[in-house]
Amino acid sequence: MPELVIPAPAIPTIPTSTGGAFPVRRVYCIGRNYAAHVVEMGGDPDREEPFFFQKNPNNLDASGEFPYPPHSNEVHHEVELLVALKSGGSNISVEDALGHVWGYAVCLDMTRRDLQGEAKKAGRPWETGKAFERSGPVGPLQPAASVGKLTEGRVELKVNGKLCQEGNLNQMIWKVPEMISYLSEYFELQAGDVIMSGTPSGVGAVAKGDQMDAMIEGLGTLSVKVV
Ligand code: MN
Repeated sequence: MPELVIPAPAIPTIPTSTGGAFPVRRVYCIGRNYAAHVVEMGGDPDREEPFFFQKNPNNLDASGEFPYPPHSNEVHHEVELLVALKSGGSNISVEDALGHVWGYAVCLDMTRRDLQGEAKKAGRPWETGKAFERSGPVGPLQPAASVGKLTEGRVELKVNGKLCQEGNLNQMIWKVPEMISYLSEYFELQAGDVIMSGTPSGVGAVAKGDQMDAMIEGLGTLSVKVV
């Protein structure tokens, strides 16, 4: 291999509950995967197919702090289940999909909603709204071997102690195995890929100083301060 002409950038990682670090290759995010959230975003849950977009691996951040980003006056929280893959492939069957999962974490798909809205209107890509610095606060990744399949369980997000988002993993329109199978038809999934699986209803804006507590039953609470 030729010598690197600049120092190699660090490999983004998510800390694990087992004391290790999970290296991240790609971050796929599903949009509109809970019916009540589809409705609050102005869509029709019976007529819209779920769809995917991406964040950058180094947007993930386990520091417990979310710096309020520039160029936005409307930054929203979205609590989500993150699924981390230990292996991948193409055309993975729904039946085989969970065999590729290393573990799960609580995460936040922080969104510059005003910029996302402008992009939607103009038919432009969403990166400025979705894939900005530290836009993916994430808690420790916990092995599937210890937390199970997580097909149901309460999902909630409180801001300054006040309940804002609530739902249940069993309300996902596309379940985790279906998401993995679908993605593997379009992309070659590999070890290190993670999927943010969509948010329940109740998204809303945060301000500097706010304390966000995101909880998924079976995984615990991710606490993040907006700074
Ligand atoms: Mn989301």
